[in-house]
Amino acid sequence: MDVRTLRARGEELRNVGSSKIVILGGGFGGIYVAQHLLSCCLPPKQWEVNLINCNPHFEFKPLLPDVLAGRLPPKCITTRLDSLWTSENYHVRVAVVTGVDLKKHIVKTTGGNVDYDYLVIALGAAPGVVPADRGARLFFCESLDDCLRLREHVLPLMATSTTKLPKRTDRKRRTIAVIGAGPTGIEVACELTHMLNGQGNRGETTGGRATADIVLIESSSHILSTWGRGLRKPAEDTLKHVGVRLLTGTTVKRIAKGVIRLNGGRILRADTVIWSGGLRGLPLYRSLGTPLDADDRIRVMPTLRLPGHPNVFALGDAVSTGAFSTPVPQSAQAAHQQAGLVADNIRNSIEERPLRTFHYRELGVVLPIGGRRAIASIMGFTLNGHTAWVLEKALFLARIPGLTNKLSLLDAVALEPLADRGRRRLGWPQPA
Ligand SMILES: Cc1cc2nc3c(=O)[nH]c(=O)nc-3n(C[C@H](O)[C@H](O)[C@H](O)COP(=O)(O)OP(=O)(O)OC[C@H]3O[C@@H](n4cnc5c(N)ncnc54)[C@H](O)[C@@H]3O)c2cc1C
Repeated sequence: MDVRTLRARGEELRNVGSSKIVILGGGFGGIYVAQHLLSCCLPPKQWEVNLINCNPHFEFKPLLPDVLAGRLPPKCITTRLDSLWTSENYHVRVAVVTGVDLKKHIVKTTGGNVDYDYLVIALGAAPGVVPADRGARLFFCESLDDCLRLREHVLPLMATSTTKLPKRTDRKRRTIAVIGAGPTGIEVACELTHMLNGQGNRGETTGGRATADIVLIESSSHILSTWGRGLRKPAEDTLKHVGVRLLTGTTVKRIAKGVIRLNGGRILRADTVIWSGGLRGLPLYRSLGTPLDADDRIRVMPTLRLPGHPNVFALGDAVSTGAFSTPVPQSAQAAHQQAGLVADNIRNSIEERPLRTFHYRELGVVLPIGGRRAIASIMGFTLNGHTAWVLEKALFLARIPGLTNKLSLLDAVALEPLADRGRRRLGWPQPA
């Protein structure tokens, strides 16, 4: 039963006079639902949007590897959620969501309970169960904090190679294991190779720097298992070319401090272990009492509604991909498309119109492969190299919120490379 029907019946409703739409999560799904709602001309004073997120910023995750590489400053990929729109119908609350009572229509947060008429769950996903011992030091690349922590850890490897460590210890120090050869794992492996070794990763010393030995571990027989075949071959060729050691068909059994136990009794010694082995739904989703898939993601109906809860919608990495007519990737692109539909369907519910169903439109995929290069598959065409990278950044330029962020991105993409070229031509030293 929706808000209007309840009101028409004169039944008691919290916040009578306005529909309180609460969005959980200020990532891609959450902010684009808010944007669509704020621009879809619902009559003011009859509704309000409340966005709850655990930190005050939106993070533009596809640019995380650029921060890892030092090409972009961290502040360039974040935007304050409360600065996104100035509408009096838009409110931001910074708090951690700890639970949702779908029967009582209440969200529990560290800042107190929040009631709702319509709820949107866009809290994303988290790294799955990692087979690691307590003492193991693991790195991730899922958030800005993760990337900054990883960058701080690997930067000393760029220092000169004159180390007094025994050979075996030094080798372990220089070995970086990236677990999971999905798009994020490949991007991180290539970016670290480029950053630490220049163009190559041949195990020798380059320009006075100790090179890192970057190993990419994948349990299935091929990389990019959730993507089509089109990009696999060029991605594999790139990994080979830059010297990333690719171990496919290799399962990580256990990660201890500095040691990874692999299937077949093999052992890899590495001081840096980066987990990129897939995401699962948040533990919080188990407490919702609504069906989940095997990866703890929320099962939604094709309208993105939760079954049995007509006023609750979910989208983005939080939802199971099984509900739709075509496979839906866990991507910002998918979350963006779903956000438009969720906003429309909330409006349709309020106005008692039929809901629409979600159909994903693949607009193309781009895989950055370190430095200023990428591989892209767009409308059946495969691009490889700098053009693909520029294309990706042009798309991000259009999407990233905030004028300052757009200008910083433009500077990093267009102006800095031009300045570098100019310096080279004039024989001036390059900046460190
Ligand atoms: C390194 C990297 C590169 C990527 N590159 C691309 C790319 O090039 N193209 C592409 O399409 N996709 C890319 N993606 C994937 C894309 O970023 C995600 O699919 C997308 O962010 C999913 O959006 P979402 O809204 O579902 O989740 P998120 O964007 O993760 O948003 C979830 C939000 O909820 C908040 N949150 C979580 N738990 C709580 C809680 N308990 N309480 C309060 N707030 C909470 C989080 O802080 C976050 O702000 C990349 C991802 C990564 C990590």
